[in-house]
Amino acid sequence: MAVDPEVGGLVELGEGAYCQVSPRGEGNQGIFVTPEGSLLVDGFIKHCNALMASLNSLTRSSPVRYVVNTHDDGDHFSLNHLFRRKGAIILASEVCRASIHEKMKEQVWVDHIRKYNPELARDLENPADLTPQIGIEQRATITLGGENIELVFMGHGHSRGDLVIYLPERRVLFAGDLVFSGAHGRCKTTDFGGILTILDALSEFECDTVVPGHGVPVVGGGAEAIATYRDYLVTLQERVAELVDRGVGVEEAKTKFGDWKYADWGRPELLPTAIEHAYKDYVWRSRFYKFQALHEGPKK
Ligand SMILES: [Zn+2]
Repeated sequence: MAVDPEVGGLVELGEGAYCQVSPRGEGNQGIFVTPEGSLLVDGFIKHCNALMASLNSLTRSSPVRYVVNTHDDGDHFSLNHLFRRKGAIILASEVCRASIHEKMKEQVWVDHIRKYNPELARDLENPADLTPQIGIEQRATITLGGENIELVFMGHGHSRGDLVIYLPERRVLFAGDLVFSGAHGRCKTTDFGGILTILDALSEFECDTVVPGHGVPVVGGGAEAIATYRDYLVTLQERVAELVDRGVGVEEAKTKFGDWKYADWGRPELLPTAIEHAYKDYVWRSRFYKFQALHEGPKK
């Protein structure tokens, strides 16, 4: 079943596997329902009502036992407390778990999450409840309803603690914000070098379906979706490098992407931020390499 990315809705990925697509590309949640209980990938407090409506219809006799966070951005972990109170176990990479733990000690981050959904703000009286109980160093397998669900830490791509959820028997991969499809992202914490290596590693996963962090699920073209986002990042960085090398300032650089092949992706308001961060990343790396060259010079 197709879903309008502007409106969002529930997409079936196979028997018992679904993706709740938030409106306007504002995040995806994976839902895996088995007779032994259900597993949820990510949760965003802003679109809590739509997710809960889907869960009520899908998991009535199979409550959510596990919630897995792909990373530490508020649009992915901000419903942990609700499921935790109902007895679910919340998992993330250990890097992500530690990061959420630290973030939830800081008022600015708690307020940030409260602003997403003021009606539910009262439920955040104890922000520590958002911290996952279990941190995964490298990988873990959960067997639920006789099926294996693999949780794999990928390192620093989109964020420092990126973790993917892989259903090998179904060839379905929940990639979190390591992959965007048809929708731009902020890329504020992206390691622009590291994410390319990670996307190469992700292309080794045998998958027909990729659920990106933002943008509708790509059913039947998973490998292509990973390759396309890799190309997006490579061509973004190439153009940024060319602009920096020509002495174009960051604000002007943001105006130079109108004819870029991915310029018409959704969430266009986020593209300038992505360009800005790719720009800063390139400038920083160039300085670093020049410094290394100077440093190593006298030794020769
Ligand atoms: Zn996100």
